[in-house]
Amino acid sequence: MRRLFQNTGFERRKSETAASHPNGMKFSLIELLVTIAVIAILAALLLPALKSAREKAKGVVCLGNLKQQGIALLSYCGDYQDHIPAGRTGNLSWAGNLSCYIYVGDSFRTAQPALRAERWKKSVFACPSDLHKEECPNFYDFCLSYGMNNLIASESPTSWTYTPWPLKLHHVPQPGGHLLATEVRPLPSSPCSSGGSHYLAYYYSVADTLGNISANHNPNFANALMVGGNARNVPLQLLMNKNLTGTHQPWNAYFRKDAVMLP
Ligand SMILES: [Zn+2]
Ligand SMILES: [Zn+2]
Repeated sequence: MRRLFQNTGFERRKSETAASHPNGMKFSLIELLVTIAVIAILAALLLPALKSAREKAKGVVCLGNLKQQGIALLSYCGDYQDHIPAGRTGNLSWAGNLSCYIYVGDSFRTAQPALRAERWKKSVFACPSDLHKEECPNFYDFCLSYGMNNLIASESPTSWTYTPWPLKLHHVPQPGGHLLATEVRPLPSSPCSSGGSHYLAYYYSVADTLGNISANHNPNFANALMVGGNARNVPLQLLMNKNLTGTHQPWNAYFRKDAVMLP
């Protein structure tokens, strides 16, 4: 049997290897360490790229969430004589009103709170990069990843200072540039652990402790749904500069027809 294999390539390679490593080791210690170092360097190069690709994918899912809300928004306007949903009507938030156009029935609202939170966390009203949702005690109805533009969200005409009430889609000049909802976190002044909610967006900067806009995917942009039903990202410097809310999109608080449009 041994003679059969004596002249084969297999036997020859084996003897060559043995000759280059007289002590019989397959790899020397140095070779092993170099191999490990090369793998470690490649992994270190690759992991940050993987991480940013994953974050980018979450941003795309978030934008898709807002687009689905936009389709629901336009369906709502079609059913209610062009009215834009108020931030809150009774026990329904704006998201609760839109959810009727996204899910079948209202089972996700009537379920037990724990189950309800699980459903909301998987819904289009949860941003995949919103870390707060995992620790939020009431992530449903009025505690969401997205907040409606608080300047157009009022359900009562008394605080409806700048805009016609009830607000209709055609009242808004250039709806594609006006903010309907964007990514938010709980207001620093009213944490949800003590009964606070997060379903409206306030334009103040976070430094004022009155703002709650949260750019989850990019340090300079937040994803947003516009009144026209389109989803896009919006520069934070326009979203969070209260000096620009009266004259610039995306807020344009006085509905000026000559407001500076979004880039
Ligand atoms: Zn997001
Ligand atoms: Zn919360």
